[in-house]
Amino acid sequence: MRVYSGIDLGGTNVKVGFIDDNFRLLCKSSIQTKPEMGPENVFDRVAAEHNRLASENGFPLEDICIAGMGLPGPANLSEGILINPPNLPGFENCPVRDICSKKLGRRVVIENDANAACWAEYECGKGEQSEDIAFVTLGTGVGGGLVCDGHLLHGFKESAAEVGHIIIYPDGRLCGCGQRGCAEAYASASNTAARAEEYVKSGAASSLSEYDQITSEAVFQEAQKGDRLALSVVEETAKVLALLAVNVQNTTNPERVIFAGGMIKAGDFLLDKIKFYFDKYCWPSRKGETDLAFSTLGTESGMIGAAAVARRHYLAGN
Ligand SMILES: [Zn+2]
Repeated sequence: MRVYSGIDLGGTNVKVGFIDDNFRLLCKSSIQTKPEMGPENVFDRVAAEHNRLASENGFPLEDICIAGMGLPGPANLSEGILINPPNLPGFENCPVRDICSKKLGRRVVIENDANAACWAEYECGKGEQSEDIAFVTLGTGVGGGLVCDGHLLHGFKESAAEVGHIIIYPDGRLCGCGQRGCAEAYASASNTAARAEEYVKSGAASSLSEYDQITSEAVFQEAQKGDRLALSVVEETAKVLALLAVNVQNTTNPERVIFAGGMIKAGDFLLDKIKFYFDKYCWPSRKGETDLAFSTLGTESGMIGAAAVARRHYLAGN
């Protein structure tokens, strides 16, 4: 049996798992990243965990064809270098691919983590039946991936699909990227919570004022109970995500836009609102052409996707 390993390198944890040719997750594990120990130490522990997992589950190392690694930040994919990851201090300009190939004793392919998760949707998630999908993940930031004509879109400097930084309101809220008015500055889970908190602090009446810490979960919970302020914050998040999807629809013409990340736990309450604004702002003639959906792959999609990206390279012989 051919086995492909997937490694999802995050600022807090590193997830390791193996898939087969049917994208079945055969086994998985995770270790703490501890980035302060430095790249050599982190990747030594990742390799040890990878090999331990293989041996514990009876996969001979020679059956593992190739490894894929999802990286949390801008990377030079063709050179295999992580450039300046915000959550991994000390990993700037780190030649991840070469270090890991050596430590794992096999070929390693690297990919941006949101692109990897997008590829998992394409191969075995909500995008399985389509050659053209867009992927939007809603967490601390808003990450993205685009599959066009069956290929992940990378672009000139391999930094395509940063859909969270589509500017929705010029000169609007300050975004983590340094620009103003990006979708992320309004509609990430963190900024949905932050906007609610700003309103509450400025004295707006809301049941959210009872919370010690306002999270996006709290905002959705109170909105569903009918709190007017929470509801207006949710409406704004949905509207911004819909505008993002309309812009993507007009750019790469996806058959489906798939949302993922912690905030999709809000379910149809959020999805129906995004669909409402999408229909309002898309070309009238394109209404109903692009489907909007929430991912069902969960938090393992980055790891599965990294393995699936590596599998694609392995099978294509490149
Ligand atoms: Zn931005």
